[in-house]
Amino acid sequence: MTRLGKLREQMEHKNLAWMFVSNIFNVRYLSGFSGCTAGLVVGPKEANLITDFRYEEQAAKEAYPGVRVVIDKRDVLAATCEMLSAVEGKVGFEGQTLAYTAFEKLAGAVRADLVPTQELVEGQRKIKDQNEIASMHKAAQVADAVFGEIRLEIKPGMSETDLAARIDFLLRRRSTDVPPFKTIVASGERASLPHAQPTDKKIAKGDLLTLDFGGSIDGYCSDLTRTVVVGKASSKQREVYQIVLDANLKALAGIKAGTRGNEADTLARQHIEAKGYGERFGHSLGHGVGLEVHEEPRLSQKNAEPLEPGMVATVEPGIYIPGWGGVRIEDLVVIEDQGCRLLSAAPKELIEIGE
Ligand code: ZN
Ligand code: ZN
Repeated sequence: MTRLGKLREQMEHKNLAWMFVSNIFNVRYLSGFSGCTAGLVVGPKEANLITDFRYEEQAAKEAYPGVRVVIDKRDVLAATCEMLSAVEGKVGFEGQTLAYTAFEKLAGAVRADLVPTQELVEGQRKIKDQNEIASMHKAAQVADAVFGEIRLEIKPGMSETDLAARIDFLLRRRSTDVPPFKTIVASGERASLPHAQPTDKKIAKGDLLTLDFGGSIDGYCSDLTRTVVVGKASSKQREVYQIVLDANLKALAGIKAGTRGNEADTLARQHIEAKGYGERFGHSLGHGVGLEVHEEPRLSQKNAEPLEPGMVATVEPGIYIPGWGGVRIEDLVVIEDQGCRLLSAAPKELIEIGE
């Protein structure tokens, strides 16, 4: 069944005659349109992609069969209000993304009942088809290749910002779009910040250096983290690195279809706890990736849902010690019946830069 067909099934289930899709990632998923200003109005027999003059040619080229392109001089919301003003039956809208002011305008224009929905399209997006997995594999290969290139360029004295800019350049050159999230470069003590933004700090000999970045192919993201040591690793750096690596490998060995999100998290967490660093692994094991870099499913203690074949997620245990530094190793996997298959392939043995 087509993506729109599946959405209509869910709409029927919720007694919705019409649906206004405003989340731009959902619009892309359902219609094929990759521009950044659009809305999709889905009815029982029609799907209208509303965008503006700038995208006229692109929308006509990209729209999937069954999607009608509507070019409107006003904004998406005004056209949507007009289109839905006289329809009958309930009209669904995306409760998590439609801004309050937009909701007010819609409510003022539409006679039918407006019903907020949650994750109707996101639920579908959780399970990737073969084409999506192929794009994500390519995006993972982009990140792998960039890691292979950048590790040869890292030198003491380089600033974190320069290194991040260089990574972004290498990513952009191999991707079909800009990097899907802000590249993280954290060196020395700053490696204890899980989401550190690069600063003008100079990378020094003896630093742990965490690099977290992703490629982008046809809208699909990858997400890769590797931690290296600049110069010779100390025994504590080796010890912590090995614990994180073993946690990563235990999770990869245990995750398969049917594993619950919280069980996946426990596979890695138990190992880190047993080694005495449980308190220092403060985030969850991983997150789904797709058109967005953070999406469903969560590999976290808060998610008791079983993983399903075709889901794509990160496996990224870490240990962060304030005043010392941190280690995170992140891979991208696709869930399968018998296990999980790695999409990322960058090496994971401890790399000592320049040694
Ligand atoms: Zn990451
Ligand atoms: Zn991640």
